[in-house]
Amino acid sequence: MDIHMNCYGKLHIKEIINASEPYTNLGGSLMEKETIEAMAQAAGTCIEYEKLRDAVCEKAAQLTNNEAAFVTTGASAGLELSAAACMSLDSAGNLDMLPETSAFSKNEILVMDGDVLDIIPYWRLTGLTGAKIIKVKPDVESIKAAVCERTAACMLFPASVYERGIPTCEELIPVLKEACVKVIVDAAAQLPPASNLWYYTKTLGADLAIFSGGKHIKGPQSTGLIVGNRELIDLCRTAASPNPGLGRAFKTGKEELAGFITALELFVLEDEEERFNRQEKRLLKIAEIVTERTGIRAEMLRQGRLGTYQPLLHLYLPKPLTAKECNIYTRSLTPGIDVGVYPPEFCMEENTVFINAYNLKEGQAEAVAEGICGYISKMCG
Ligand SMILES: *Cc1c(COP(=O)(O)O)cnc(C)c1O
Repeated sequence: MDIHMNCYGKLHIKEIINASEPYTNLGGSLMEKETIEAMAQAAGTCIEYEKLRDAVCEKAAQLTNNEAAFVTTGASAGLELSAAACMSLDSAGNLDMLPETSAFSKNEILVMDGDVLDIIPYWRLTGLTGAKIIKVKPDVESIKAAVCERTAACMLFPASVYERGIPTCEELIPVLKEACVKVIVDAAAQLPPASNLWYYTKTLGADLAIFSGGKHIKGPQSTGLIVGNRELIDLCRTAASPNPGLGRAFKTGKEELAGFITALELFVLEDEEERFNRQEKRLLKIAEIVTERTGIRAEMLRQGRLGTYQPLLHLYLPKPLTAKECNIYTRSLTPGIDVGVYPPEFCMEENTVFINAYNLKEGQAEAVAEGICGYISKMCG
């Protein structure tokens, strides 16, 4: 085996060009070189772990204009730590008892019932804390009626597609605050704009909001961020590693802490319009090549799939060709190319391919266009 081969090659793992989304299954996002360097530096030096963690969390709070922040191993870990924190606040029970909650005065988490529960099943993870999950009919009156003295928190999932037919965060958070219910917002993929890092907490008044570090923030794939109320964030910290409680399983290494905070700073400081324009330029390149070579229709949208601020390209394949078949073809190429296929909940026609340039590197737009043209010409002769 050639020692100079790259690590993926040695393992016979093929490179994929990500023209869809920073999906976990594709390895999340790509890190900037500053982030990679920070991780390499951290890996070579021992430090006092808790001091590093606290400094990183304090800086994350400053960068996101929040009272406090906690960096953990992913949005999913954030959901569990947040649920544990909300149950422990003002309670006879304490974090060391979890997942045994009989001593807790508040041990119920409200979620809104409906299709959303199948589309994003992450709400289930809060149950690992021992919390009882209560599914509530998704309208304001039913939610108000479901609140009782055992309610520890209500979990909300913002995004145009998740909030279809159910009350939005904008409608619900004021009602829940009036009823003195803690609100946890799972905003894992609701970026950009960077201002969403404080929108749910500072503008809408949620107690905690949670983001993935490995998606749009472009941090290490195994990181996540909780922001919001200081008292609750302190409880998240107590519940988490290195303490040997429920959250010991969520250990952020020194490398991940260093990488995450570097990525977060780059993300927050980057000019939104510059980021948007850079992505749009790559998408326009793809649209230009594909439409010129195949004559199919292309459409540029100024909003991401989940209602976020990023450009998105739609390519309408000649029927009966489908985005799913196109994806199978482009994934079989070397390198593979992941073009966007809408899952059913988006209710899009099957011939719609979406392209997101968030993780496209210089020169990859051409490869994406070639791949799609190759599929169309193979099928249409
Ligand atoms: C991706 C995602 C998660 C999981 O995030 P990780 O950082 O991978 O743990 C949770 N909730 C939503 C809405 C997501 O999109």
